[in-house]
Amino acid sequence: MAQYDYDLFVIGAGSGGVRAARLAAMSGARVAVAEEDRVGGTCVIRGCIPKKFMVYASEFSHHLKTAKSYGWTVERATFDWPAFLAEKDKEIARLSGVYVRNLHNAGAELVHGKGRVVDAHTVEVAGHGTSTTGKILIATGGRPWRPSDIPGCELAITSNEAFQLPELPKRIVIAGGGYIAVEFAGIFNGLGVDTTLVYRGPNLLRGFDDDVRSHVAEELEKRGVKVILATQHTAIEKTASGLVSRFANGHDVESDAVMWALGREPYVEGLGLEAAGVKLTEKGSVAVDEYSRTNVENIWAVGDVTDRINLTPVAIREGQAFAETEFYDRPTKFDHEMVASAVFSQPPIGAVGLAEADARHRYGKVDIYFARLRPMKYAFAGADERALIKLVVDSATERVVGCHVVGPDAPEMIQMAAIAMKMGVTKTQWDATCAVHPTLAEELVTLREKYVPMGLGQVA
Ligand code: NDP
Repeated sequence: MAQYDYDLFVIGAGSGGVRAARLAAMSGARVAVAEEDRVGGTCVIRGCIPKKFMVYASEFSHHLKTAKSYGWTVERATFDWPAFLAEKDKEIARLSGVYVRNLHNAGAELVHGKGRVVDAHTVEVAGHGTSTTGKILIATGGRPWRPSDIPGCELAITSNEAFQLPELPKRIVIAGGGYIAVEFAGIFNGLGVDTTLVYRGPNLLRGFDDDVRSHVAEELEKRGVKVILATQHTAIEKTASGLVSRFANGHDVESDAVMWALGREPYVEGLGLEAAGVKLTEKGSVAVDEYSRTNVENIWAVGDVTDRINLTPVAIREGQAFAETEFYDRPTKFDHEMVASAVFSQPPIGAVGLAEADARHRYGKVDIYFARLRPMKYAFAGADERALIKLVVDSATERVVGCHVVGPDAPEMIQMAAIAMKMGVTKTQWDATCAVHPTLAEELVTLREKYVPMGLGQVA
């Protein structure tokens, strides 16, 4: 007679939880997964996947403009938001179904309801009572953070609602300067919505390379997004004609919708972690070690709830490492170095490794290789769109420690660059790679001249 009902109880059926549950179940372990919403988590249901469909939908307006220069006559293009939403929801339902099937095929049991840790060996699922388990994995992800101290703050939506708006607003104000703010600014602008992006800092996308940040802000503006920097909301007021955003700099902007994109918070509410003695960090995420172990024996946590690198593939790899360690007797840590990421702004960004400033801080002397150029497709069309390519090289070892691309297909390119960089590629090896022509990517392997930024003569 087994000591517990299950060997593993996973709370949260998102990217990290599902990967861990499936792998554990495939080892022969008895696994249950509690999920209060649809299976798939943020990525599938209200994040990466539907966002990318929205990016695709919105990019058509740009393609249509370019099409004219290539000889096309487009009579009267219109966009049907409800029709798009219906198609998008169909695909999301299909993908969620695939996740459910995969769990089932692996032999894991899905329990619908909110899970709560009662103690290190007991989980309660709302409506299903309690079960005992050998191990518990917290994989509940994150939720959009929204301010509560700004008058009228409840009038604004978050990304959660942006995926389901009954109708497309004519005007929108998006607050924030991170991934979600910049991606949704591109989406709404591309769909014909008069879009204003308001960010408190001096430039968008803090943490990215400074050249990338200013380049993206410029390109967003060229495409029609109004970017307002160095200020933030002091209030939102409802009027007869819409919502008025009031800013600290004294300016007002009227719109039909306001969206908070001010970051996300780990979803730990109501999980019973305190009662179970699980330590949280100062920021409220579950504190874990490099094996995703919490301070309580038998309890682990992976993904956004641990607030390490909040990206789907990272959650998946953390979940996988947990399962390998605990159910296959192969101690595995996920290495959080050199994780590439993409921002699906318009134009998009691909980045891996260090920003120039961070590399200078870490290595002292670095060499910069840099190009700004007109992508072929847009040069032909006479459009004023620029791409950016930048390499950061550690002067002492010649290793490429940062690669930053803004332009068409940058997210596709960066995956390949990340492989070489993870292997420790040097600039000489990088340059020995023959170009693929005619592409934007070839510019990556043809950057020969060191770039000397103004005031930084030491890199010459
Ligand atoms: P980010 O952390 O990327 O950005 C949050 C933004 O909100 C920052 O610009 C921040 O400013 C600003 N902000 C935070 N608090 C306040 C405040 N009180 N008042 C005004 N501004 C504020 O969060 P996102 O919500 O955009 O995305 C969450 C995470 O999800 C990302 O970090 C990323 O890990 C992941 N994600 C990944 C995507 C991808 O891979 N393409 C897409 C979407 C999300 P400041 O910089 O000054 O702190």
